[in-house]
Amino acid sequence: MINFTVGPVQSTEEVKEIGAKSAPYFRTPEFSEKMFENEKLMCEFANAPEGARAVFITGSGTASMEAAVINTLDRNDNVIVVNGGGFGQRFADICALHEIPLTEIKLEVGKTLTKEDLENLPDKKYTALLVNIHETSTGVHYDPDLIGDFCKENGIFLIVDAISSFLADDFDMEKCGADIMITGSQKALACPPGVSVMVLSKKAQQRIATHNSGCMYFDLKSALSNGERGQTPFTPAVSTLLQINARLKKIKANGGRKSETEKIAAIAQDFRNKIKGMPFEIVSNSLSNAVTPLRPRNNVSAYDIFTVLKDEYEIWVCPNGGDLKEKVFRVGHIGALEISDNDKLIAALKDMQKRNLI
Ligand SMILES: *Cc1c(COP(=O)(O)O)cnc(C)c1O
Repeated sequence: MINFTVGPVQSTEEVKEIGAKSAPYFRTPEFSEKMFENEKLMCEFANAPEGARAVFITGSGTASMEAAVINTLDRNDNVIVVNGGGFGQRFADICALHEIPLTEIKLEVGKTLTKEDLENLPDKKYTALLVNIHETSTGVHYDPDLIGDFCKENGIFLIVDAISSFLADDFDMEKCGADIMITGSQKALACPPGVSVMVLSKKAQQRIATHNSGCMYFDLKSALSNGERGQTPFTPAVSTLLQINARLKKIKANGGRKSETEKIAAIAQDFRNKIKGMPFEIVSNSLSNAVTPLRPRNNVSAYDIFTVLKDEYEIWVCPNGGDLKEKVFRVGHIGALEISDNDKLIAALKDMQKRNLI
């Protein structure tokens, strides 16, 4: 199978080999050393501000989304949630569950966030803004500077879910002024699922220190204090953390975060050039390099295209759920993919065209 989904995605041979071995015992200086490297490289690749820390949560991306909320916000907050699709809705649901007052900015499918959307908010006293900088469900990427400037001007605490955007798009925590950046192991980090990472500014650490999370497993106070000795409070996904370590060091050796982003951008651009003239419409007015959302023309079912590619061509693209299931499928550009893989996908789509399936 060739995997063009947005996670889990394909891993390199080096990363796969680590996963083939038994997990080592981890309460050791050797493992701590790897965790220190992980923290340092995550902060570097996020361009985190001075004094930032990174913590590694065993749990998928959503675990860190919820951990961010319960460790830094409470009923005295008044938050804005940018809700442009499934992941924005998830942030709204997490806030509602934990009884944190929220105002949603609901966006139409395929439309990015604008300055007017922020200026037209009903209330002026907000304390925090939660955003999925790339709303992976629709493939819309929001402008980090627009959001960052708004938060700076209004003294708003900024939580950015960059789970599918980290490494794929330029994201600079310091420049945009984000207080928390979240990512996950199975997106552009291209490791197995199960670990999510949070980079925390000093301001975020202060909020954590003064908040009661009401939760033991996702208590970031203990994650931060254990991290000081390169450890986690409980047994983490040890092998996945070692895979992340190998991957981060490889990115560093290959020129760092910027080179990785350029590589992903080149694969995305190549695909977008090759899909021109085919019966698909790209349905986003602001794209991430991580994914291309496509609407088939001629009323062809997007979900049927996913099924035929999977069953007859050994290719996974990413289907959509909910209202978009029949309308849109997505082609991911993250993970261990090459330009030649794009050619195989295009050839499969051309063959389907010949068979009158699209
Ligand atoms: C993948 C993703 C998540 C995390 O989903 P999990 O299934 O919990 O890993 C969250 N937000 C965005 C924007 C994502 O792309």
